[in-house]
Amino acid sequence: MQSNLSFSTLPLSKEILKNLASLGYSSMTQIQARSLPHILKNRDVIAKAKTGSGKTAAFGIGLLDKLDVKAFRIQEIVLCPTRELADQVAKELRRLARFTHNVKILTLCGGMPFGPQRRSLEHGAHIIVGTPGRIQDHLGKGTLLLDNVHTLVLDEADRMLDMGFHDAILKIVSNIPKLRQTLLFSATFPKNIEAMSKKVQNDAVTVIPDEAA
Ligand code: ADP
Ligand code: MG
Repeated sequence: MQSNLSFSTLPLSKEILKNLASLGYSSMTQIQARSLPHILKNRDVIAKAKTGSGKTAAFGIGLLDKLDVKAFRIQEIVLCPTRELADQVAKELRRLARFTHNVKILTLCGGMPFGPQRRSLEHGAHIIVGTPGRIQDHLGKGTLLLDNVHTLVLDEADRMLDMGFHDAILKIVSNIPKLRQTLLFSATFPKNIEAMSKKVQNDAVTVIPDEAA
């Protein structure tokens, strides 16, 4: 699962490299080594790798590299199938952002009261992590605007489609500018994922680690 490549082979800031070292991430996992060079070049990427292969840091490093912290507006959004997964992703993003000051990450998931989410949105955020249903609700109510989003991540895309989020995802995507980077992460790659990729991505590169081949 580990590659022998160090993160320092990538064009990343000193803060991000220092933080990765402090988290004990000494070398990249295979999926990170294969996807990050494309992600950092702003390409659309499909990454297929099993659970535990380090997919969160693969897109998380890309998100932090591209984030303009001084511009306090929603620039990046990560869609996850469940609240538990969204919480895990937000936690990992906060760990990765430890040395990048004042990055505001907001989770928006179903099963949580709407009012506090609306008030948090009024205070603003840089990155939204959430489940498709609740994000669609916020868009419908006008409590969330995605006009300034430049990066969209579909995490565990296969599970999201299995859970019936196909239409919600497309509705959300229709609220995001066309000129964006779209990253699709999935443990499996059935036909419906391929079809989704064609609808939401542009000239995507597919990356897989050896053991998933
Ligand atoms: P996935 O999304 O592919 O299931 P995760 O992103 O949840 O995997 O990562 C699995 C675990 O591996 C997490 O505990 C994470 O902190 C750790 N991890 C990720 N990248 C590295 C790395 N380069 N070196 C060491 N551990 C890592
Ligand atoms: Mg994951």
